[in-house]
Amino acid sequence: MNNRVYNFYAGPGALPLPVLERAHAELFNFQNLGMSVMELSHRTPQMQMIIDDSAERIKQQMGLGDAFEVIFLQGGGSLQFIMIPLNLSRPGEAIDYIDTGHWTQRAIEEAERLPRDVAVIATTADSDHNHLPADLPYRPEAKYVHICTNNTTTGTQWRSLPKIGVPYVADMSSDFLARVLDVAPFDLIYAHAQKNIGLSGVTAVIIRKSLLADIPDDLPKLLDYRTHIDKRSNYHTPACFSMYITWLMLQWLEDEIGGVAAMAAINEQKAKLLYDYIDNSSFYRCPVPEEYRSVMNVVFHLETAALEGEFVVAAEKAGFVGVGAHRTRTGCRVSLYNAVTVEAVEALIAFMYQFEKGK
Ligand code: PMP
Repeated sequence: MNNRVYNFYAGPGALPLPVLERAHAELFNFQNLGMSVMELSHRTPQMQMIIDDSAERIKQQMGLGDAFEVIFLQGGGSLQFIMIPLNLSRPGEAIDYIDTGHWTQRAIEEAERLPRDVAVIATTADSDHNHLPADLPYRPEAKYVHICTNNTTTGTQWRSLPKIGVPYVADMSSDFLARVLDVAPFDLIYAHAQKNIGLSGVTAVIIRKSLLADIPDDLPKLLDYRTHIDKRSNYHTPACFSMYITWLMLQWLEDEIGGVAAMAAINEQKAKLLYDYIDNSSFYRCPVPEEYRSVMNVVFHLETAALEGEFVVAAEKAGFVGVGAHRTRTGCRVSLYNAVTVEAVEALIAFMYQFEKGK
């Protein structure tokens, strides 16, 4: 395929070509059913197989063992901002949040709508979120500490998590299945699919089984995690096509890449190439100190906003899309999710070099 651009969007973003090719090949006749997966009832064994097998693959890749349930919901990462405090805490109880940027602030705003004792125990707002907090003065009575493992807009990532005495609840929307992770410190992990594992419309939620008995019984049914666990993520009509693409992505991760450890090595390689290039240049500058840098979202600046604007336009013209900053920020951002190839990063670096030379 030679008419495809290099896609660095922050999500939805690039999908692997083999996944698109398989979806294309199966589009009119999925598994000899004489119809596409889009036309298939969600009550068929095939759709339930897609869901169950996807959950099983996530369990395997993350080494979840028997301690966790994996479900798929709609409503994106944003619905989890409210479902989590509703399910994991009761009125008056303490819940702790770490503010490391735009998306954690959204999570905090939602939690604060509930009658809970919400505390922001650490924030990096004073430095424009260009680093991560060193101290997490969590409250021992807190039901959980909410953390965002990768901050999509500001390009920071917790490379390792501080040990604390309270379980973490983690937004992994932008680094899910992109690195090897010890799941022991987590009570709940959530990630929408549209960055690393599929399409928008699907959000994976991993929840520790031991918490289920404590979920308040008066929640609306759709907002109670147990509803979706009991009905194997098929209580109401799932986003079937998105679920199918997620299933294809999970197979691609295993069969073509070799699993999450192999993926992590490729992701490290891509990020190193780009950061090294930026660090060795005096034309581009990364505002994030090295130890906090994200492997997934590389943010950088050029000397002036005008030059950054020019860069984004020239990049797009040359076939590199999605290199502008998040709409709330200035500068540039390149997202290196699982589907972005090493070759794409090398091509981008060559373009960055040419752009600099032309100035
Ligand atoms: N969390 C993170 C880390 C994100 O990057 C985003 C969106 N890019 C969200 C949550 C919000 O997710 P959604 O748009 O699926 O609600």
